[in-house]
Amino acid sequence: MEFNTKLLHGRSISKNPGKEILPPVSQVTAFQYESMEELEKVFAHKSMGYAYSRIGNPTLTAFEQRVNELEGGVGAVSCSSGMSAITIALLAVCSSGDEIIVGSGLYGGTISLFHDLEKFGIHTIFVDKLTADSVKEHLTDKTKVVFGELISNPSLRVLDVAEVSKVAHEAGIPLFVDSTTATPYLARPLSLGADVVIHSTSKYINGGGNSIGGIIVDGGRFSWDFDKHTALSDFRKFGKRAFLLRLRTDIWENFGGCMAPANAYLSYIGLDTLGLRMEKICRNTDALAKALEGISGIEVCYLTLDSHPDHGYVESELSGYGGGILNFRAGSKERAFKIINSLKYALIASNIGDLRTLVIHPASTLYIHTGKEEMEAAGVYEDTIRVSVGIEDAEDLIADFRQAIENADLKDENE
Ligand SMILES: *Cc1c(COP(=O)(O)O)cnc(C)c1O
Repeated sequence: MEFNTKLLHGRSISKNPGKEILPPVSQVTAFQYESMEELEKVFAHKSMGYAYSRIGNPTLTAFEQRVNELEGGVGAVSCSSGMSAITIALLAVCSSGDEIIVGSGLYGGTISLFHDLEKFGIHTIFVDKLTADSVKEHLTDKTKVVFGELISNPSLRVLDVAEVSKVAHEAGIPLFVDSTTATPYLARPLSLGADVVIHSTSKYINGGGNSIGGIIVDGGRFSWDFDKHTALSDFRKFGKRAFLLRLRTDIWENFGGCMAPANAYLSYIGLDTLGLRMEKICRNTDALAKALEGISGIEVCYLTLDSHPDHGYVESELSGYGGGILNFRAGSKERAFKIINSLKYALIASNIGDLRTLVIHPASTLYIHTGKEEMEAAGVYEDTIRVSVGIEDAEDLIADFRQAIENADLKDENE
């Protein structure tokens, strides 16, 4: 099956109890049983069943199985947000005294999380770009995981999953990939060598901008060394599924980071059109990037442009697409603000992956608490505008950005 057919008719499409086409929203806290013996079996994991929605809910299961199938994993756990998914995934394998190697140029919230983890004794080593050499150079006995974003938001650097997973695996370390901006439509990191895939489903997977959520998918192929990954040692008997069981029956349950059933339902519906949306969004972004590239005084960053250092990965890793985010430098913060304020269609909003085109000035919002050096390492400058391109007609978007840039310059001349 090709992507869209699999999306709608794959193995994971659940047979619902009342023959509903979509999974019913199990908007309940708890589930009732005929006898105490039955509930005992559920708690003892001896029979399949739901007890309490923080530790399992059928609407969540329907959503998890679908994302799991698209990513090619052995199981998935849905979380209250992308940040919750990243936190839970990392804390499942790290404890105090451990180290994480990450590529810089990450999502701002994730950078802040790594600073928080320092207070719990988990140390993060930021490398300029994750490569075989940079990972090798920083591996120590304390390293427990390598973490990177497949297409970093907003710097748009591409992680070479095959290369980085190879050196990590040689050292007995798993590679966790945040694939939020790539989505399973562009790339399946597990098939390239990653061990765990994480998404903020708030973005492209939901796609309609109507609910916060996150998901962790376990590839189930990593051979854990339980003497090294002591955080998983209670799950030794599950072998390659130890990470999934540690999540499902331990840390995810205990941290209380479950997704809300209504959000799982909305994200499930959103997923229906993932292929359709990504196709249109990527085409639009490519067209807008190429149009902006021709305007003087504007410096565009987008993966399909020859000027982008990682454009080679578009074909080799991203199925020929560049994704839905582009950045451009406007020359100054003032000019950036003027351009943003003159746009007719793009909404000024702190999000990506919506159906509507969204713009933001990252330096004064997402990176307001980040130091200049770290911000620039993330590809964000004082004059950077980030655009999350939507599904409007490309002609209208291009005309709108053109008029906004011209307007900003006219205003400049009048002042
Ligand atoms: C938005 C985002 C997150 C955080 O997700 P939330 O759902 O907002 O918690 C993590 N990583 C990336 C790449 C993101 O874009």
